[in-house]
Amino acid sequence: MNQDTIAAIATAPGQGGIGIIRISGTNAEGILTAVFHPSGSGSKPFKSHYMMYGQIMENGEVLDECMAVLMRAPASYTREDVAEIQIHGGTQVLQRVLEFCLKKGARLAEPGEFTRRAFMNGRIDLSRAEAVMRLIAARGEQERKAAVRQMTGGTADFVRKASDELYRLQAGLAACIDYPEEISDEEGAGELREGLHQLINILREALDERSSRLIHDGLHVTLFGIPNAGKSSLLNALVGEDKAIVTEIPGTTRDTVEGELLINGVCIHLTDTAGMRKTEDPIERIGVERSERALRNADIALLILDGSRNMCDEEVGWAKELRKTDAIVINKSDLPQKTTEKTLHALCPGIHCMTVSALDIETLRPVGDFLRISSEVSDQLVLTQPRHLAAVKRAIAFLEEAVSTLDLMTPDMAATDLQSAQNALSEITGDRADEKLLDVVFSEFCVGK
Ligand code: GDP
Repeated sequence: MNQDTIAAIATAPGQGGIGIIRISGTNAEGILTAVFHPSGSGSKPFKSHYMMYGQIMENGEVLDECMAVLMRAPASYTREDVAEIQIHGGTQVLQRVLEFCLKKGARLAEPGEFTRRAFMNGRIDLSRAEAVMRLIAARGEQERKAAVRQMTGGTADFVRKASDELYRLQAGLAACIDYPEEISDEEGAGELREGLHQLINILREALDERSSRLIHDGLHVTLFGIPNAGKSSLLNALVGEDKAIVTEIPGTTRDTVEGELLINGVCIHLTDTAGMRKTEDPIERIGVERSERALRNADIALLILDGSRNMCDEEVGWAKELRKTDAIVINKSDLPQKTTEKTLHALCPGIHCMTVSALDIETLRPVGDFLRISSEVSDQLVLTQPRHLAAVKRAIAFLEEAVSTLDLMTPDMAATDLQSAQNALSEITGDRADEKLLDVVFSEFCVGK
């Protein structure tokens, strides 16, 4: 238990109908008593979990009217005494009431300190604590769902089950080492090997890196092609706003332009590249270099062609280099067509082609469908946070190491690897987490959470 009492503004900066000041710690009730004067049915000492109406009063001056609630430990977010004061959501009034609470003995909370206390006091494990911040930061529906699954224990339950299974295997190994006359090395190694294979499979199945990256980071799509093919027009039509400048002069988009849209609750980041032409202009050259970088980092490259023209050699070369996940958009379908899907299928069999006109939004549906299919994710995933995936990968590596050890040496030699795998798993729930790791995790939080 922390001895000091912390306070912070829990609501977002700026003006709002209501602003909340949260106080947590042994002196939360004392501070509330000093700053808040209930009226009507409220009386001191305060009743726990009971919303009261009253005033914040400093030396006889009313700072604001408010609602306040005291939540006595342990039935609170931090498992400490917590007071929450709801006042009007103005910067000045919130700051003034916060300063008043600080004068009465509270310390300004650090980012994430309330949630860190909830973790330290055993109310939530580390994966649930991280989920709180993810939920707040979630931009797409899929990320919100993943954060709620994690917050309600999906990740922790999965990891604890895997960890229990590993404890069982460790216990079996200990028995094999302690009672060599009852369990032979071959017998012990056989059982352990089978158990390890099963556990590795369970962990691998949960390790869907593609989906978790889509949920976390979205799908990165880069539009590329020769100048004037209609890349900017397409990006604008897909995003629904004039992000990229559209002109008839080739080479107008000198730099990369980005737009975002949400499909299926996944954030799609579109990058419109500068035309990939060879250029002597140094500024345009920088744009082309950025385009090449965007293309290398893209999950999906969309080659945009002007269907009203024949393909040039450069375009033919690009089409042949596309990966299975990429696609070709033949634009300007409203004009007489010289390049068609048939041309492309003959050139690069199996490539996904779509014929559209950036000027007619109705024709863009196939592109939307393609992006929808490309960004599909399972909504059952339990591991979606990069830190958790890295820990599970480390656990798998140690378990595999243990399997190789069993093949070469006596079973007791695998014990260290099993313990290392166990440690990696317990970092996810924070059952084993050092201060440094906690500092990193909670530094991403906002103050007041
Ligand atoms: P970018 O250089 O590839 O980004 O091409 P832009 O989007 O700037 O478009 C170049 C020119 O083609 C502009 O005049 C656009 O209005 C025109 N354009 C783009 N898409 C279409 C289309 O589908 N049909 C027709 N007819 N013109 C288009």
